[in-house]
Amino acid sequence: MLESSFGYKTLDLYKRIDSKIEAHYKGKKKQAPCAKGCSACCSQFFEISEVEYVIILKHLKEWDKEKLDIVIETAEIYRQVLEKYHNEFYREYFSEIAEEEFSEKHYYKDPERYRIHIPCVFLSEEGACNIYEYRPLVCRTTGVGYKLNLEFGNVCREIRSIFWARRWQADLREFQNEILSVNWLESKEHDDSNEYTTVEPRQYPMYYYVNESFTKGKSPFSDSRLNSYFNMSKEDLIEILIDDYLK
Ligand code: SF4
Repeated sequence: MLESSFGYKTLDLYKRIDSKIEAHYKGKKKQAPCAKGCSACCSQFFEISEVEYVIILKHLKEWDKEKLDIVIETAEIYRQVLEKYHNEFYREYFSEIAEEEFSEKHYYKDPERYRIHIPCVFLSEEGACNIYEYRPLVCRTTGVGYKLNLEFGNVCREIRSIFWARRWQADLREFQNEILSVNWLESKEHDDSNEYTTVEPRQYPMYYYVNESFTKGKSPFSDSRLNSYFNMSKEDLIEILIDDYLK
């Protein structure tokens, strides 16, 4: 059943979060500064989960080749920028050798992350989101809502304090576990106690996924993972990825 797949559950979560945010701001005098034309958070370094990228891919299938080519070229340029200007970070976490020894603990704490300001590969010249309807969870929630009990620091150059922003932001704490679970997958393998185990595949920046799947022509996903996303095989994904690019 497609509707029971991980991908559809994620889309359903998008819908419920959007409704909550919309209801929260309806009729309110104080609105979040996040509106069309503001892309303050779109150049920060962040990752999305595999299932969120597969959702975006399904949408890219509708794009014409010219528009898609621009995204693919831009993703390759961004990869080169990361390699050239943040070389140590790139080698440590994004080169093929590094992938095998990837340490999440270091990666998320690496101060270099906060020095990387590469615009999102889906940001238009006008500062609008080219995949608005299919944008990932972080883009739906950043700025407009809060998900944790206590947070400090800034959100972006428009929202200086995440702590004080919660006076007017939507309370999204009820979705916290579901948001985290968008990246957890039930492995098909049994562990020692004969239970299914949960695996957490590594997340990547969007331009990295685009570069892997289109420029390098690699599918970053295994068949069993694709199955849990949309009950989809690698062949179905290749069709989604537009045959020309992955042949
Ligand atoms: S997907 Fe859209 S909202 Fe998210 S960072 Fe990219 S341009 Fe911005």
